Amino acid sequence: MKLSIVIPTYNERENLPILVKEIGKVLRDLEFELIIVDDDSPDKTWKLAEELKEDYPFIKVLRRIGKRDLSTAVLDGFKKAKGDVLAVMDADLQHPPEKLISMYRRIEEGADIVVGSRYVAGGEIEEWSAIRKLYSKFATLLAHIFLPSTRAVKDPMSGFFMCKRKVIERAELNPIGYKILLEVLAKGSYSRVEEEPITFRKREKGKSSLNATVQIKYLRHLLRISWETKEIHRVLKFAAVGLFGVFVNLGILWMLTEIAGFHYLLSAIFSIEASIISNFVMNDIWTFRDRKKEGFVEWIRRMVKFNIVSLPSFPMQMIVMGALKEIFGVYYLLAALIGIFFVFVWNFVANTLWTWKEV
Ligand code: UDP
Ligand code: MG
Repeated sequence: MKLSIVIPTYNERENLPILVKEIGKVLRDLEFELIIVDDDSPDKTWKLAEELKEDYPFIKVLRRIGKRDLSTAVLDGFKKAKGDVLAVMDADLQHPPEKLISMYRRIEEGADIVVGSRYVAGGEIEEWSAIRKLYSKFATLLAHIFLPSTRAVKDPMSGFFMCKRKVIERAELNPIGYKILLEVLAKGSYSRVEEEPITFRKREKGKSSLNATVQIKYLRHLLRISWETKEIHRVLKFAAVGLFGVFVNLGILWMLTEIAGFHYLLSAIFSIEASIISNFVMNDIWTFRDRKKEGFVEWIRRMVKFNIVSLPSFPMQMIVMGALKEIFGVYYLLAALIGIFFVFVWNFVANTLWTWKEV
């Protein structure tokens, strides 16, 4: 068996026959199987799938009773799969079946994982509103921040992908929710990942099950993988360094204002720079010690990058601070603290993605 395609379904009675027919046509020259994993759909998709077997002998059906989770459905499908290459796709025709063949070719040519990607050149989304697009982009950004291993891929949130069996054979996959590809990217063993552009088509029949629970599950899933792969430690270290920097910042601000008699906004310029330097030194020694290139020149380069990234800290902190104090009469040290919080979020994102970007 060359290829096993796992298709999770929930109430896809209207879509399944069309999909099966298309896949049969596209892959007619390949030895493959189609594993339909159905969580006991009320519309009896599992029964329809059984009936389709007669005309399409490549179908296998797994009906799960009392479970309702897309990603464990996919894992159960993997367990049943016999192919050397595994694929996952949706049943609702949003993933173009004709791409299966080009994705399979890429695997034959040496890719370990091929992602059907909406966000590379040639990729597209047909139907989504601006809000849904923005949400998806934001979710992708979160994945890129918390799971560095997903950065090799522009669309790690895709539900359409293919991989060699050996990629996941030893991995302990433990997903919740929708995004099984995140697990594969974070825990699989592979070296070559490629993206095949796809058009994410409009859902014509049936309805999407995306809702708020799914989104919360996504956040839980992300944090869990981040723990399991230890990447969360970096966020915590960065926060600890930042906290120390807060004391440096406020301490110098206080000394220059109260003892040297500077205007508080002038003191802020010096105190911010002092905390930038102390933060840099500690992050370099501790938070990102695994990501350093050796040598003094490289050190200077990182220091300059860190300072560039930190530049917006000055206006950001000073505007928040000035506004809070001058308009709302907030005590200047408290105003500074609130300003620093905004700066923290910006700094972490920019520095992980640039200053200490993975080598
Ligand atoms: N699905 C599933 N179990 C669920 C929810 C969805 O097997 O609990 C299947 C669904 O039938 C489809 C795929 O997962 O094949 C993607 O679901 P959906 O279209 O609702 O997600 P969206 O495309 O809106 O992200
Ligand atoms: Mg869909």
